Amino acid sequence: MTHSSQSKVAIVTGASRGIGAAVAQRLAKDGFAVTVNYASSPAQAEALVAELQAAGGKAMAVKADVASAQEVRAMFDAVEAQFGKVDVLVNNAGVLKTQPLAEHTDALYDQTFDINVRGTFNTLREAAGRLNEGGRIVNFSSTVLALNLPGYAVYNATKAAVEAFTQVFAKELRGRNITVNAVAPGPIATALFLDGKTEEQIQSFAKAPPLQRLGQPEDIASVVSFLAGPDAGWVNGQILRANGGLA
Ligand code: NAP
Repeated sequence: MTHSSQSKVAIVTGASRGIGAAVAQRLAKDGFAVTVNYASSPAQAEALVAELQAAGGKAMAVKADVASAQEVRAMFDAVEAQFGKVDVLVNNAGVLKTQPLAEHTDALYDQTFDINVRGTFNTLREAAGRLNEGGRIVNFSSTVLALNLPGYAVYNATKAAVEAFTQVFAKELRGRNITVNAVAPGPIATALFLDGKTEEQIQSFAKAPPLQRLGQPEDIASVVSFLAGPDAGWVNGQILRANGGLA
C-alpha cells in the first residue's frame, strides 16, 4: 500500500498527557507522523492530535490498553493503515502507586505489572515483526530504581523488568538495524509523580539532584528525540538516566 506521507512513523504509548504528550509534541516537530496512544483520556488525546495537526503535523489518536495484546495488535494495524509501517516505538505508558510491599493489594500488583511490564512486552513483541529496518525503540525505566526508596518495591520491579527487556531485545534484533534503548527519568512534574505527595515531599525531590529542580516533560522528550533520531544511530541496548544528576 502506498501512503500519501513520506514522514517516518512513530507510536507513543500513553501520550494523552504527561511525558508521553511532550514526546508526541517533540516527535511531531521532528517531522514524524505521530500516533497518540491512550487508554482512558480520549478528550486529552484528541485535543493533542488537533494541536499537532494545526501546527502542520500528521497525528492520530488510537485507544488501546497496552496491557491487552489484542488491542496493541489492533493499534499497529490502525497505524499501518493510516501512516504506513512504524519506524519508532516509544513505550512510555506506565503507572506508579507507592505502597509498602506488605500493604500491596493483589489488584495493585497486577495493575502495575500489567501496564508497565506486560504493556511493554506486548508492544515489543508486536514491533519485532512490524518495525521498519532502521527503526528505533525507546522504553521507559525510572531513576528511582537506583534509589531503593521504601514504597517503590513493586514499581521498581516493573522497571527492572523493562531494563532487562531493553538489553536482551537489543541483541535479539541483530541484523535488523533497529536500536532498543531506555530512558530512566528522575522526578518529572507530571500527575504520576505529583499525585499523592505533600508539598514537602515534592520539594525534597526537587532539591535532591545537583541541578536542584524537578524535571519537566520536555527534558525527557528531548532525550527521546535524540534516541529516536539520526544522531543516536550507534547507541543501542543502553539505559539513559536523565535526572539532573540525582543518581
Ligand atoms: P502520567 O502523567 O500519569 O501519564 C501516564 C500516561 O500513560 C497517560 O497518558 C495515560 O493515558 C497512559 N496510560 C496509563 N495506563 C495505560 C494503558 N493501560 N494503556 C495505554 N496508556 C496508558 O505519567 P508520566 O509521569 O508521564 O509517566 C510516563 C512514563 O515515565 C511512565 O512509564 C513512568 O513510569 C515513567 N517515569 C515517570 C517519572 C516521573 O517522575 N513522572 C519518573 C520516571 C519514570 P490515559 O489517561 O488515557 O490512561
